[in-house]
Amino acid sequence: MSQTLNRRQMLLASGAALLGAGALARTTQAAQKEITKTKKVLFFTKSSGFQHPAITRRDGKLGLCERVLSEIGKGLGFEVVPSKDGRLFEPDKIGEWDAFIFYTTGDLTTQGSQQEGPAHPMSADGKKAFLDAIAGGKGFVGMHSATDTFHSRGREIDPYIKMIGGEFISHGAQQVSNLVVTCDDFPGVKPFGKGLKLNDEWYSQKNLADDLHVIIAHDTRGMTGWQYDRPNFPETWARMHDKGRVFYTSMGHRDDVVENPLFQGLVMGALGWVTRGCDVDVSPNVSKVTPGYATLPTDNTPRKKR
Ligand SMILES: [Zn+2]
Repeated sequence: MSQTLNRRQMLLASGAALLGAGALARTTQAAQKEITKTKKVLFFTKSSGFQHPAITRRDGKLGLCERVLSEIGKGLGFEVVPSKDGRLFEPDKIGEWDAFIFYTTGDLTTQGSQQEGPAHPMSADGKKAFLDAIAGGKGFVGMHSATDTFHSRGREIDPYIKMIGGEFISHGAQQVSNLVVTCDDFPGVKPFGKGLKLNDEWYSQKNLADDLHVIIAHDTRGMTGWQYDRPNFPETWARMHDKGRVFYTSMGHRDDVVENPLFQGLVMGALGWVTRGCDVDVSPNVSKVTPGYATLPTDNTPRKKR
């Protein structure tokens, strides 16, 4: 158990059921000096490809998702700093962050077409420093188009894709999916129950790592579009990347999902876990809970842009 978390982070991240009052008291005592330490989180929202509405800034104002996460984070001991500036990943700057949240698209070492705000690309050194930082123990939370970022070329899987654990293929029309909870003790997941129906733009993914700990899966029966003509596959997952804790959820395209307390609780719970506010078993379960996960759908319609 980390000793650098504060009480609110710990309560949020662990939930009473997971941690128990005794452990809470012990950690609180042990962490007396550092109990008010705020975790610094870089929320990177640069779009080198398609720019999503939820992170689009208008008239100098933060995008909806940027606003929501920074505001909620504040109350939970996370200083969430939204930025589109890839220079923050330079080796001499990266150490200032405890964790990273990505809502990004495309090759972030390129400028892309984004117009608003300073959106300098990451350098190649910056990308390496970032991946090294995660492997070295910093936390990572990816949401929605984070898997539509740094695509693999040919058969070689991009090191970023290896880290996040999956790669966007395509999505169909926005629709209600039957989400199946496969790990209900992950922080923030309890309110989902055994599963629920949620309307969003759902990503079909490939290059799914074989060490994923699947938290929520799609029940693909009844989903519309060639993208989902495949066995059940992971929707939200966690994995270890060497010493770093990695979390990803494909939710978050629609504004009403970003505004949904379920989504917000899931992301904040994940932030608690990746910053070591609590421990939970994330041993690989992908082959067990989604045995056909590697069977990919066939694109039999003209390719649609995001
Ligand atoms: Zn989207």
